[in-house]
Amino acid sequence: MSLALPFDNSYARLPPRFFTPQAPTPVTAPRLLALNRDLAAELGLDADALASPAGVEMLAGNRIPDGALPLSQAYAGHQFGGWNPQLGDGRAVLLGEIVAGGRRVDLQLKGSGPTPYSRMGDGRAWMGPVLREYLVSEAMHAMGIPTTRALAAVATGERVLRERPLPGAVLARVASSHIRVGTFQYFAARQDTDAVEALAHHVIARHYPEAEDAFGLLDAVIGAQARLVAEWMGVGFIHGVMNTDNMSVAGETIDYGPCAFIDAYHPDRVFSSIDQFGRYAYARQPDIAVWNLAQLASCLLPLMGERDAAIARATEMVHTFPARFGDEWLRVFRAKLGLVSTEDGDADLVGGLLDRMAATGADFTLTFRGLADGSARAAFAEPAAYDGWAEVYAARRDRDTASEEERAALMARTNPGVIPRNHRIEGVIAAAVAGDLAPFEALHGALSRPFEDQPDYALPPEPSEVVEATFCGT
Ligand code: AMP
Ligand code: MG
Ligand code: MG
Repeated sequence: MSLALPFDNSYARLPPRFFTPQAPTPVTAPRLLALNRDLAAELGLDADALASPAGVEMLAGNRIPDGALPLSQAYAGHQFGGWNPQLGDGRAVLLGEIVAGGRRVDLQLKGSGPTPYSRMGDGRAWMGPVLREYLVSEAMHAMGIPTTRALAAVATGERVLRERPLPGAVLARVASSHIRVGTFQYFAARQDTDAVEALAHHVIARHYPEAEDAFGLLDAVIGAQARLVAEWMGVGFIHGVMNTDNMSVAGETIDYGPCAFIDAYHPDRVFSSIDQFGRYAYARQPDIAVWNLAQLASCLLPLMGERDAAIARATEMVHTFPARFGDEWLRVFRAKLGLVSTEDGDADLVGGLLDRMAATGADFTLTFRGLADGSARAAFAEPAAYDGWAEVYAARRDRDTASEEERAALMARTNPGVIPRNHRIEGVIAAAVAGDLAPFEALHGALSRPFEDQPDYALPPEPSEVVEATFCGT
């Protein structure tokens, strides 16, 4: 057994103003709640060693592994459109970067105690959001959507005070990096062009080696976000807090707070209890991505040469987002409909289905999963609405070039049957808080095979089970 981790900490080699060295605050009685053995194996880590008492001490932040250089990252951000010049890791510590299998990833502990960026917060997390992020991020990964990963969840043996005292936990999380649009904003707002330049070089080397300059970097991030948000839309995912500090420049889904998957479809759906005006509603996500990317573009302007020309070109690039997103969105939804050829009317075909789903709140997942065998009809309160659309769809399928087998296979791997439904997650958290992890493990197992038929996990909530609101749940 070996707890030696192959650290190589490139972020820690950036100038000191990028972060604050910060050790995690030890906890009283760490206990392993979940360990992601598959991810450990991918990273070349010894899962048995991680599960050993010394490994759990490390995952809880009580023991700093050799080669780690724990630090909290500085960043800023627009939260719900309002500027905050000073955010940063208020309850997270980057242990360092692991280089394994040709990849470089961050290993971060979230809920690891106060940092200079904690502001009024306690630096901790309670078990609910930790298990929630574990489940949802791993479900996203299983569906093939870029995301941070969950390596482990550890109970701290301590209580954190929220609306009531709740059991504390630490999440060990893995990401391509934790660099956000807000990281650029932190330095741009301070007119620290040297830092913006150093950060741009770091991000290009790490994530977009093909990018030749700041324009190339902006273009690459725009492309990555267009793909990511289209993938979200395809599974009915609402991020919930698309603040600029929660948008990863690597194009991964990051910061699972009040995120949720739609059950009954409506484009204006919002779950987050603090999103009063629907800024981050399902259908607004692509617009918000543009807003965030415009912030990134303005941060990069000082690296883009003569200012007026730079503004013109950067603006034009940001304005390519809707078309690029539209292409990605069509790619995602065509596949969900089992279509391999393209026709001009395809966007309207998809839109027609979504409109009919919205009219009576058809279940998003059941509808798309059921398109392959016609059982989608049962997801509609007024099946006649579906029938009208299904005729057009049948004609379009007849004109498509895919064989029956191809179509079936395509639909089966693009329409998950099992998603992390809110009511399931809440049930699992309640059981875990009461000391029973079996429901968490069972749901995690089901979510790791989203494209298999698993009737026990496919059903939407009963009316009495519907979860109307989710919380940042820090
Ligand atoms: P979020 O809304 O999760 O993106 O967090 C926004 C900011 O609040 C980030 O700087 C977080 O680090 C910080 N934050 C969130 N929860 C806590 C907490 N419990 N203690 C300290 N800082 C926190
Ligand atoms: Mg955040
Ligand atoms: Mg958060």
